[in-house]
Amino acid sequence: MRPARALIDLDALRSNYRLARELGGGKAVAVIKADAYGHGAVRCARALQAEADAFGVACIEEALELRAAGITGPILLLEGFFDASELPLIVQHDLWFAVGAPWQVEAVAAFQTTATLNVWLKLDSGMHRLGLWPDEFRAAHATLSALAHVGPMVLMTHMARADELDSPRTREQADVFAATIDGLAGQTSLCNSPALLGWPDVRSDWVRPGLMLYGINPMPAHTALTGRLRPVMSMRSKIFAVRDIAVGEPVGYGARFVAQRPTRVGVVALGYADGYPQFAPNGTPVRIDDQPGIVIGRVSMDMLTVDLTHLPQAGIGSTVTLWGDAPRIEALAPLCGVSAYQLPCGVKRVVREYVDV
Ligand SMILES: *Cc1c(COP(=O)(O)O)cnc(C)c1O
Repeated sequence: MRPARALIDLDALRSNYRLARELGGGKAVAVIKADAYGHGAVRCARALQAEADAFGVACIEEALELRAAGITGPILLLEGFFDASELPLIVQHDLWFAVGAPWQVEAVAAFQTTATLNVWLKLDSGMHRLGLWPDEFRAAHATLSALAHVGPMVLMTHMARADELDSPRTREQADVFAATIDGLAGQTSLCNSPALLGWPDVRSDWVRPGLMLYGINPMPAHTALTGRLRPVMSMRSKIFAVRDIAVGEPVGYGARFVAQRPTRVGVVALGYADGYPQFAPNGTPVRIDDQPGIVIGRVSMDMLTVDLTHLPQAGIGSTVTLWGDAPRIEALAPLCGVSAYQLPCGVKRVVREYVDV
């Protein structure tokens, strides 16, 4: 069997969730959209089920997958519904949902139901993607509050630049939010992972950690809390071929690596079709049987090559860790010109193995 594996440490996931909740000081929506950023939404939800205050997903399809798997707790549709025809399903499956566009407000107002809807009313405080403008927000709050089928709302907004610790924008967005909700009833929800990790004075009743649940700090330069985040995914495979090449000989497509000394090359069963960055440069760190190693040559679709010259004990069957405790995704992603979010989200084909201690 092909040895490519993504090991998923569910205890680390729980530990990161607790850290997020501790930093937030209130309740936390565990954001497990996009198949839990590539970690497997159902397994992650089950692991967190006993303690998560709610789960966050991108769409009703993701929510229904969780319900079908027996997840009974609150699930928030972070982008609300894409069509008013989803509202009966939202009621049927008891989902919470964001409302962040005027047409969604109208659809909720026009919807007839005996159920009580759990609405997270979203303000555009400066990101300019989703959310109502401040005046629209206050009007929508009045409209929806007056409806018998809308329960107490949560007032939310989303930060655009919380990963930039020297930008005034997060503070400005928080100020716009505070001014807009002044006097309005409802709990609040502000923080994604970068806001939680980088902005300790921006707080709300509910936080919405995503990336940090998986043990990844979205701000690579911001190391203060990285040590408390435990990487959840360890991407691994094995060496299944080895060869020695002479000085001047190339390795792989495009001869991007050329040996400057006699070089022992290991071939690893994992490539860009598994989610490893195709343009990882020569010298990108890996671990080989827990020793430091590097990628040499261009990453292929199903394979990549590593330098074994300094590791005479390593060979066929050696385990290569592409990311995990080392190298960490925070360090790897910038070397490869991708974001830390992209790497786990892009994982496919590899077998996910869950470790739950
Ligand atoms: C994805 C998402 C989050 C989580 O963001 P991270 O940066 O991964 O923590 C929080 N809130 C909303 C509305 C989102 O869409």
